[in-house]
Amino acid sequence: DISSSNISTEPKTKKKRIGMLTSGGDSPGMNAAVRAVVRVAISRGCDVYAIYEGYEGLVNGGDMIKKFGWADVRGYLAIGGTLIGSARCKAFREREGRLNSAYNMVKNGIDALIVCGGDGSLTGADVLRSEWPGLLDELIKEGRITAEEAAPYKHLTVVGLVGSIDNDMSSTDITIGAVSSLHRICEAVDSISATALSHSRAFVIEVMGRNCGWLALMAAVSTGADFVFIPERPPASDDWESEMCEILKKHRKLGKRKTIVIVAEGAIDKNLKPIKADYIKELLSNRMKLDTRVTTLGHTQRGGKPCSFDRNLATLQGVEAVHAVLRATSDTPSPMIGVRQNKITCEPLMKAVELTRQVAEAISRKDFRRAMELRDPEFSEDYAAYIETTIVNDETLSKNKCLRIGIIHIGAPAGGMNPATRAVVRYSLNHGHTPVAIYNGFDGLLQDNLRELSWLDVDGWAAKGGSELGTHKIIVSDLDIGMIAYQLQKHRINSLLLIGGFEAYSSLVELNNYNNQYPAFCIPMVCLPATISNNVPGTDFSLGSDTSLNAIVESCDAIKQSASASRRRVFVVEVQGGQSGYLAVLAGLAVGATNVYTPEEGVSLKKLQLDINHLIRRYGEDKQGTSSGRLVLRNECASETYTTDVIANIFKSEGRGLFDSRTSVLGHIQQGGAPSPTDRIRATRLAVRCVKFLEQYTSHPSSSEKVVFPSIYTNTKDSAAVIGIDGAQVIFTPVADLLSETDMKYRKGKKAWWINIKELVEILSKWGYYEIEPELN
Ligand code: ATP
Repeated sequence: DISSSNISTEPKTKKKRIGMLTSGGDSPGMNAAVRAVVRVAISRGCDVYAIYEGYEGLVNGGDMIKKFGWADVRGYLAIGGTLIGSARCKAFREREGRLNSAYNMVKNGIDALIVCGGDGSLTGADVLRSEWPGLLDELIKEGRITAEEAAPYKHLTVVGLVGSIDNDMSSTDITIGAVSSLHRICEAVDSISATALSHSRAFVIEVMGRNCGWLALMAAVSTGADFVFIPERPPASDDWESEMCEILKKHRKLGKRKTIVIVAEGAIDKNLKPIKADYIKELLSNRMKLDTRVTTLGHTQRGGKPCSFDRNLATLQGVEAVHAVLRATSDTPSPMIGVRQNKITCEPLMKAVELTRQVAEAISRKDFRRAMELRDPEFSEDYAAYIETTIVNDETLSKNKCLRIGIIHIGAPAGGMNPATRAVVRYSLNHGHTPVAIYNGFDGLLQDNLRELSWLDVDGWAAKGGSELGTHKIIVSDLDIGMIAYQLQKHRINSLLLIGGFEAYSSLVELNNYNNQYPAFCIPMVCLPATISNNVPGTDFSLGSDTSLNAIVESCDAIKQSASASRRRVFVVEVQGGQSGYLAVLAGLAVGATNVYTPEEGVSLKKLQLDINHLIRRYGEDKQGTSSGRLVLRNECASETYTTDVIANIFKSEGRGLFDSRTSVLGHIQQGGAPSPTDRIRATRLAVRCVKFLEQYTSHPSSSEKVVFPSIYTNTKDSAAVIGIDGAQVIFTPVADLLSETDMKYRKGKKAWWINIKELVEILSKWGYYEIEPELN
């Protein structure tokens, strides 16, 4: 879900002949990267060559280097691993191997190389580039190529894409494949949790990651595991065994029936001694007398089908890689395409590799603070949030209560509502507050439907979809505002967290508007956006939007399969989102839709005509009858006139026998089942920040004071805010300031960072290719 820029406004440059390879361990999304590189390169007038089996193909040449056309990458988006193969190639590590590579590249006319792989693969590419002039001289000397042949290839352009499930590369927040791998891990841990709960067992689960604990930590946050071991942050104590057992015993004492410990394969203690799953099992069996099993997830973690995020990340980075090739000059260092704060970046490749190596060095020097610093900016915060929401802090549990935090879910259910509530409850209890659930929205408040939540009440909520508190579309302005004030006062709610979509936001606006009339609203209040539509102002992402994208992508893959089996069929798929085209556009990119209809752009006869022309041309091109099915995604509010049925009917009657059309309205499936790992992680981080925000408005009682229930009074502008994600930053914007950014009529924020991505959907489906560059056809 990354904003892209300059998709079609890049200057045209001379034709390049780009070689593309995938190398090292495979990761989900590599195929999406290949597809994007191939298609964008072709639409920019370049030739693209797939190099099979990583550097093996480059060293061996022959039929391992194949020119790719538009249709060669058809269907690539949804497939895991890498279809052009990957290998660990010994020969390429030797100069002789690289000499052969140079020969094969010159013979095929390749003057640029895009490599998708880990730090080893990217280093290899840079070594080739630095040796390039010398390799050419040697080839000429040996008489394998002539000086004339070599002349056009003076400079080699190299661009790196980071494909790695470990998320172990510095200078980028996330690598291609890591999130899909996390999806598989979470599915596995969720399944194991069910059996652990049934038999009251303990499980020690080993996940991948040699020098990098990203997968282990994020899996622990996402699944609510009881303990985690990561290489960057070994247990502080020499007797960590007893410490761990104490914590796990405490959890059992509180009533937990299952114990889950996650161990990264590279986990170590503070003296660098490896911590292995079997050893932990022994501890749990012998010291705690728990029936304990070890599960090593192994290669299932390679990920399989890429999730929506990886497809889009790889696509946007693939596009940028082609642009980087076209921009490159002989004296710019080889770039690595990364992503920082939701923006695609271009960093010097070797600097990133160097920083990555420093992590392993820092760990070997036992400089764990440095190792944590070298990770992406969210890593340390996620670790802290994990500890604060997992480990019971007895000292504060019994302390005087400071805040009585009302938690309310408003609007439609969205993935992440429960994980957020769990995190608020756990963190609050650890800080001496009282979390109070307000069931069934504001209606429930009026009916005294409130209950204090305990540590155990929310156990298991990390993985639960929907809303355990019950959510309601009724908003404050539908109800008696005086009664709401009365009820908040009656239940001594002195801080409020509203989790929900636009209804939650507008309710907060309303409560804030009335704070000069009702002192009950002069309390800190925060809205945590949670809606699949991602239409709340003040944030780039709302909870639930990632879960929903994955649900849509999964459904669309199935629909596309059906459409492809029927050969010439175009599905018009209706997706939700209200007046926001976010889901349609981002899902359109992830499933390879032919086009997308959004409320932002609307639908017109002219546009439909262009789409029909395009479909006729595409199906007309297909002479072998192997044409694939195609999808057009239509947001539910894109047009009042051109409904999903109308569009499908128009397609059908205009298809001239070349294609027919069907509709599919995805409906509530789009809320998703279990929340996606991304939504769970965001929920945890943001929920902790929300409580910290509320805490700012209370003065902590001194330890000598007995029962303290501070009557908090605040009516400053800042004390009623929306929490948001702005790139990698978490921000709080006062609701009063957000009004100017809000389109109240269409119930959404005025900014839509993702809007340009629609153009990329068109380019990658060849729609833009015809429209933008007809002479290339
Ligand atoms: P992963 O993160 O999955 O380990 P990686 O890209 O780091 O991926 P490596 O096995 O280190 O995986 O590297 C893949 C291939 O890249 C090697 O088999 C080799 O062909 C090439 N390579 C790696 N390092 C170098 C190097 N220093 N010089 C030349 N080639 C290299």
